[in-house]
Amino acid sequence: PIALFGEQRKNSMGANLANDIELRTLADQVNAARRPWIAAPLVPGAAAPGPAKAVTDPSDRRRAIGEYHPADAATIEKALANAVAAQPAWDALPAASRAKILEHAADLLEARRAEFIALAVREAGKTIPAAVSEVREAADFLRYYAAMARKLFGQPEVLPGPTGESNQLFLHGRGVFVCISPWNFPLAIFMGQVVAALAAGNAVLAKPAEQTTLIGHAATRLLHEAGVPEDVLQFIPGKGSTIGSILLTRPEVAGVCFTGSTETAWTINRTLAARNAPIAALIAETGGQNALIADSSALPEQLVKDVVASAFDSAGQRCSAARILFVQEDIADKVKTMLAGAMQELAVGDPGLLSTDVGPVIDEASREILAAHAERMDREATPIAEVRLGASAAHGTFFAPRAYELASLDVLTREVFGPILHLVRWKADQLDQVVDAINATGYGLTLGIHSRIDDTIDHIVRRAKVGNCYVNRNQIGAVVGVQPFGGENLSGTGPKAGGPHYLLRFATERTVTVNT
Ligand code: GLU
Repeated sequence: PIALFGEQRKNSMGANLANDIELRTLADQVNAARRPWIAAPLVPGAAAPGPAKAVTDPSDRRRAIGEYHPADAATIEKALANAVAAQPAWDALPAASRAKILEHAADLLEARRAEFIALAVREAGKTIPAAVSEVREAADFLRYYAAMARKLFGQPEVLPGPTGESNQLFLHGRGVFVCISPWNFPLAIFMGQVVAALAAGNAVLAKPAEQTTLIGHAATRLLHEAGVPEDVLQFIPGKGSTIGSILLTRPEVAGVCFTGSTETAWTINRTLAARNAPIAALIAETGGQNALIADSSALPEQLVKDVVASAFDSAGQRCSAARILFVQEDIADKVKTMLAGAMQELAVGDPGLLSTDVGPVIDEASREILAAHAERMDREATPIAEVRLGASAAHGTFFAPRAYELASLDVLTREVFGPILHLVRWKADQLDQVVDAINATGYGLTLGIHSRIDDTIDHIVRRAKVGNCYVNRNQIGAVVGVQPFGGENLSGTGPKAGGPHYLLRFATERTVTVNT
């Protein structure tokens, strides 16, 4: 057996995220975590929230873990008015003061990581190692954007000018930002978006994914406790369509930061564009149809290990996950056999158990989409392997990881968000055709390359239109400040999360010229 997701316990800077003893303690804490968790809008001055919706555990739908109260229209309006009034004072603070608050939040998060890990496991179905990484990433976003705020916003840039004139360029927050985050990184991406907008001097209305409201609520409370004023960061849970139809038509909204599907990003873009209002900033990180290209010089053992991690870690519910493995025909049979063997080692079941590699998918709707795709693949492709579900998977929304071989290079154009991998063989003279087929999907998020030939690697890197290329390793788990993350074309607008330019898109620039 090969080590499956063990290396995910280290980040790529080599820092240990948790050792085995810590993991065992964390597992005990997850299973003992205090419930029910309750979440409601965090909007100062709003009326009491309306009726609650039940939240159940995706790994056992019989288990209620809490409830949340969606924000109604009056609460959303109140939140917007609060944010408009509060933003100028927040923007007027020195960047270093905002940064200090965010660093304090990182300390609090690290001190209380057990509670956040328990929420990520029970509300989002994350495995414990994945939840540990998620907390690490959220803390990294807090510290990294705090450092970037100091560097970029701390003092104006002094520009040249003739004698008797001073020119300075200042950065400010744009105003009110709406941050709309996904359920697949319910803490890290929630935090990353919100913190970037705050660090740049904006007021934020944070809308979590409906499936992961509880952890978003806990993250918001933590930021308040660290010192972010309650009217500067407000939490407005609910359905995307309800909240979007109210907020995104309002001229007071200066920017939107969104992670989710390309289709939803189009809707947001159209709604913002239809306003008679200042043109809003839209930062969107959207879908992918990510491939991994392996040539015949690749080491099959390493390749298979990296494919399994890239395709099935987090039940394939990462934007970065590998969906299509293009493998050169000389090694294809060997890779297929080893892949089928490695997949049988995957333990699918309760993510509260440390032995689990793959937890549930997020909800029944998601499971049904995956099942419909698998049904189509059963007819149109050749099955390679399907993992058996473990005993602890009986009552949750689980979907067994599986792999298929496709006969044609015409790759699938739609992303299927879960643990389904497609394998396609290519011949020595078809490399360019493979890269062109990947580019032709219109997406451009991650690409894996496995090869021992530098010229081949360089050639693919130059030809592929993707945001993140990973060579001879897995293609998931970008580290903040180390692998700035984000795609191009249908995969997103940029700038890259966890990269040095991210905060700039949340800012407006003002030049001040003084005749001295
Ligand atoms: N940043 C994550 C990674 O590198 C993916 C983020 C996403 O799925 O949106 O795996």
